[in-house]
Amino acid sequence: MNQPQSWEARAEEYSLYGFTDMPSVHQRGTVVVTHGEGPYIVDVHGRRYLDANSGLWNMVAGFDHKGLIEAAKAQYDRFPGYHAFFGRMSDQTVMLSEKLVEVSPFAHGRVFYTNSGSEANDTMVKILWFLHGAEGKPQKRKILTRWNGYHGVTAVSASMTGKPYNSVFGLPLPGFLHLTCPHYWRFGEEGETEEQFVKRLAKELEDTIEREGADTIAGFFAEPVMGAGGVIPPAKGYFQAILPILKKHDIPMISDEVICGFGRTGNTWGCETYDYMPDAIISSKNLTAGLFPMGAVILGPELANRVQNAIEAIEEFPHGFTASGHPVGCAIALKAIDVVMNEGLAENVRNLAPRFEEGLQRLAQKPNIGEYRGIGFMWALEAVKDKATKTPFDGNLSVSERIANTCTDLGLICRPLGQSVVLCPPFILTEGQMDEMFDKLEKALDKVF
Ligand code: PLP
Repeated sequence: MNQPQSWEARAEEYSLYGFTDMPSVHQRGTVVVTHGEGPYIVDVHGRRYLDANSGLWNMVAGFDHKGLIEAAKAQYDRFPGYHAFFGRMSDQTVMLSEKLVEVSPFAHGRVFYTNSGSEANDTMVKILWFLHGAEGKPQKRKILTRWNGYHGVTAVSASMTGKPYNSVFGLPLPGFLHLTCPHYWRFGEEGETEEQFVKRLAKELEDTIEREGADTIAGFFAEPVMGAGGVIPPAKGYFQAILPILKKHDIPMISDEVICGFGRTGNTWGCETYDYMPDAIISSKNLTAGLFPMGAVILGPELANRVQNAIEAIEEFPHGFTASGHPVGCAIALKAIDVVMNEGLAENVRNLAPRFEEGLQRLAQKPNIGEYRGIGFMWALEAVKDKATKTPFDGNLSVSERIANTCTDLGLICRPLGQSVVLCPPFILTEGQMDEMFDKLEKALDKVF
């Protein structure tokens, strides 16, 4: 084989890139990363970048947290791998399930493990289909989500994801319905107050349920704050308006906390921050602080009892992944929960969130920034061609891509999402590092506009 010379050329020669703007890669090359130091990553040329993307939202304790690495090493030494089936389960899995129910908003619950957030959402859909079938409602199969919601990439979770790009796969599958995104700034109609906007979305939900028939709808999935949709916090009172409608029609509400869970919004759960009680929680990413691929479905008490009864009736739930409940993942998760919740990381998010907002507020004064939005350590700046009319930029290489590329040149990683630039740094970020982030972002904005 003829080996191309540079790391960049080797990456391009042999990799199929996912979620990557290929013209940017061809023009700029790939950042090939060798290691990390706190919230920084370092590439093969020794260049350091402050990663305000936390890897992919998940490296919340940074890239070299000693305690987490020790927990992984210790478990690899003790018992490096197993599954959670056929009447066998590792002690770490037992302990993590207890811990997850303890830190959940539920008085009681049950946990199922996967390798990713997509699989956790996929699993939750199968749990709902299984449950409704077992309860004599096999036609209760449709799934409700929202436009701009992101729930993953498997055929089912991509069908839940409300992004037009999934049409290249011929998705969504039939029976996956998307409701209006609760982003008041972008989707509120002229003259409509935020309260009226929320009422309109609640009515849309009620009308959809009546049109489709509640007996055909298996569940409603929502992120507390939409992450990959561009960091979109819900309009004020949104969850309070829709939850009673779902309850009235016996439609379980699933909180997809893959990003928001374990500290990103400043509390353990996003549903805590936005004050609602779901029927189940989907967790991943922060669950292991990014050190192990793992997802979890956490069923609240009512669903847990109903699903358990359904399983007992047929004696087995025919679902699971080879590495479900992997003891190394569970040991890391136990440590990660402790580190985030008890070693000051979530506290740092709460303490620095106002400074984060101040920095963005200042940058949002610039003529081409239409909105800043977010909470805790998840924020976005949305670029607009015209601030008054909120008209987006056009062109092939989106403006956010140009800002993010310029940031990379300056040693800052941030994520372009639609017309927005997203900042979701690790929870260990210091005030000084936050200033560095804003400094570099401002320089990039001034270069691009
Ligand atoms: N759900 C949400 C809210 C996410 O943000 C993501 C990933 O970004 C997923 C699900 C899918 O998780 P994974 O990429 O681990 O499959």
